[in-house]
Amino acid sequence: MHSLAPPHGGEDNGAVFQGVREKDENLRIVLALGRELENRGIPVYYTRTTDVFQTPFEKAQIANQTGADFFLSIHRNSGVNPGEYSGVESLVYEKSGPALELAENINGALGEIGFKEIGVFAEPEIAVLRRTEMPAVLAEIGFINSEEDNRILEENFDEIVKSLADAVEGTISEEQIQAQAVRTYRVQVGTFREKNRASQLVERVKAEGFPVILDADQGIYRIQVGSYQELENAVTMERLLRRRGFSTLITD
Ligand SMILES: [Zn+2]
Repeated sequence: MHSLAPPHGGEDNGAVFQGVREKDENLRIVLALGRELENRGIPVYYTRTTDVFQTPFEKAQIANQTGADFFLSIHRNSGVNPGEYSGVESLVYEKSGPALELAENINGALGEIGFKEIGVFAEPEIAVLRRTEMPAVLAEIGFINSEEDNRILEENFDEIVKSLADAVEGTISEEQIQAQAVRTYRVQVGTFREKNRASQLVERVKAEGFPVILDADQGIYRIQVGSYQELENAVTMERLLRRRGFSTLITD
């Protein structure tokens, strides 16, 4: 399930450039994307399908009531001066998990079509990102005051909608695969930002004869022992490690 939130609306036009109002652009993209997702069998909820005003908080509340798995807010960006900036960027509450994956998939898909990829940024102050209970992404589909971006959007509109749907569908199926994967437990004996310190601990654990794993993710090194499909076995290993003086934590 997916929740789509066309931003702005009603008295809130969003950005305006040469008579084109962002609120209309957002709605146009969202309705097309929603149709595409529904055609693929992915149920969609909308925070609005007409030109009505909602606060960002209301949009988040509506989405939370649907219990959707993802929340996607589609915007057009705007620079202070026309033509100053161009490209797509996506905002997330924090750069981790399914929201980051969806954001990266969206940027990548639109980058392939020809938009400049600006990046994914954490913006925890944005209400629709902070107040939504599911992974949420705010995607800026190019700048409304960039003629280059508007040209890309108009010339490739159907392809862009399909690419956005691909990004959503790809993220959903990846999440399902991960959820179905066998759950395993590991005993963590330390986390470090410095690789040298992580390697030193790995050597210490190895010297004691434990099956140690060094897991590196986004600049954080986790030193773990395992994996175990049964929690009981992880607990037994944790006891052994503690006896050897390691401080431990069971992760899954
Ligand atoms: Zn906007």
